[in-house]
Amino acid sequence: MQLIESGGFHPITFKHIKSGAPLPENPMIITFDDGEENNYSEALPVLRRFRMSAVFFIISGNIDQIGWMKEHQIKELAQAGMEIGSHSVSHRFLSNLPETDLRDELRNSKKSLEHASGEEVVSLALPGGRGSKMVRLHGYESGYQFLATSEPGINQDGFDPFKIQRWAMTESLSDQKLRSILTGDPRVIAASQRRYRVGTRLKAIFGDELYHKIWTLAASVKLGATA
Ligand SMILES: [Zn+2]
Repeated sequence: MQLIESGGFHPITFKHIKSGAPLPENPMIITFDDGEENNYSEALPVLRRFRMSAVFFIISGNIDQIGWMKEHQIKELAQAGMEIGSHSVSHRFLSNLPETDLRDELRNSKKSLEHASGEEVVSLALPGGRGSKMVRLHGYESGYQFLATSEPGINQDGFDPFKIQRWAMTESLSDQKLRSILTGDPRVIAASQRRYRVGTRLKAIFGDELYHKIWTLAASVKLGATA
């Protein structure tokens, strides 16, 4: 957050873009996926301290469960100027679903989150970053105006609001790398996009479920997890 502030970047929300109000200099969007309770207990106080806004993509089926945000916490986020977006009902990969399930995931999550926040929900983040033409079509028909992917990149003028690119922030990300991402260093962007494309190809070869299992296993080995 300090780096964002000192670099002269200005966090906005998707609703800001939708409103047509002039954008600040160096606009950017901070997003949080899933809706775990630490979004409320840890992220919100930091955002408040820096007077920054962010978008929280919440799995609506987890609301009020242990470890996940409660309805009143979501309301408080919205009242603090944060945007509430959908991350589906169940976090199933939307590109794999039959059309009726896909429609339910999109519509029911939007409805629950609008009820919890008291605000209109206009944005959706794809679970696992898995999208398709069909997902975009149903997203549009369900009333979403922005779809966030997991593909790394910078959203330049004239970007497609149904293919919003994002950068995953990890603990191991150095300040220097973050700075090059924020300033749009073409070498760093090209390298990340290459890696992402390799991942997409592996998914096509192994199938989505198996790829996800391998990826999860690799991640737990890296973290030194035992289970
Ligand atoms: Zn997620």
